[in-house]
Amino acid sequence: MIINDFGSWMKKRFPYKVQKISIDAGFSCPNRDGKISKGGCIFCDNKTFNPSYCDPTKSIKEQIQEGKDFFRRKYKDMKFIAYFQAYSNTYAPIEQLKRIYEKALEEEEIVGIAIGTRPDCVNEEILDYLAQLNKQTFVTIEYGVESTNDETLRFINRGHDFACSKRAIEMSAERGLCVGIHVILGLPGEDKEECIRQAKIISDLPINILKIHQMQVIKGTKLARIYEKEPFHLYDVEEYINLVTEYLRWIRKDIVIERVVSQSPKELLIAPDWGLKNYQFTNLLLNHMKEVKAQQGDKIAYQ
Ligand code: SF4
Repeated sequence: MIINDFGSWMKKRFPYKVQKISIDAGFSCPNRDGKISKGGCIFCDNKTFNPSYCDPTKSIKEQIQEGKDFFRRKYKDMKFIAYFQAYSNTYAPIEQLKRIYEKALEEEEIVGIAIGTRPDCVNEEILDYLAQLNKQTFVTIEYGVESTNDETLRFINRGHDFACSKRAIEMSAERGLCVGIHVILGLPGEDKEECIRQAKIISDLPINILKIHQMQVIKGTKLARIYEKEPFHLYDVEEYINLVTEYLRWIRKDIVIERVVSQSPKELLIAPDWGLKNYQFTNLLLNHMKEVKAQQGDKIAYQ
């Protein structure tokens, strides 16, 4: 095993092909609606979150149906996870959350839900409810952590610190939930050393799934204005492969790696434009790791 990849992990859990269908249930985000700030994270453009079939003006049922039709073109026998991805999908009163999640779970061939949210948008009541739901179906909660460095979190206007992320992760793990997190490598001010420091911190957290992506500058964001005025370093493919290789060597072997790269739509992306599909990048990374005899977690002494 070079990395503990998400596809293999899912195959062990489900005896059929499972695909996530992104749903935009019309949630907002406290970092955009004024509760914390109006500006949002400086890199945020939610247009990059949603595939074409996902549209908040459509009902959850319609979005699920369109998602199923979209993926069925590729695979005939397949089941689905409803993925609440856009904005902060626990940012509503509990009764509303229950209605939304349970509506998705009522749909045929939906075998679980994945909920993306901010760590400051959960509380004991929501997590207790999700823990109950987790007894009946497959539930994952995915927190945008982005960085473990409070100075960076302030710079990107994240609106919460790392202690908040850690607390939400621990509260979720204590309840037996499958916990995923998302980080960005190459945020302004974070060099390779800082990324490796982060990997060690991440490895100490009780998480199950990790998504990593490279810093991308998206048109119309505050980060794009900063970048235009004073360009900062963005990784090229080779540098990023080297960085992710080293990063993964410090990540616990049992943590499932769901993603190592992300490619925003070309029309929205300012830089870096690698011209690679995600699977092409992942193949390059795996080949490189094989070549240099690197494996996920092989630098952690106790393993
Ligand atoms: S928390 Fe997510 S949705 Fe909210 S501003 Fe940041 S990136 Fe955008």
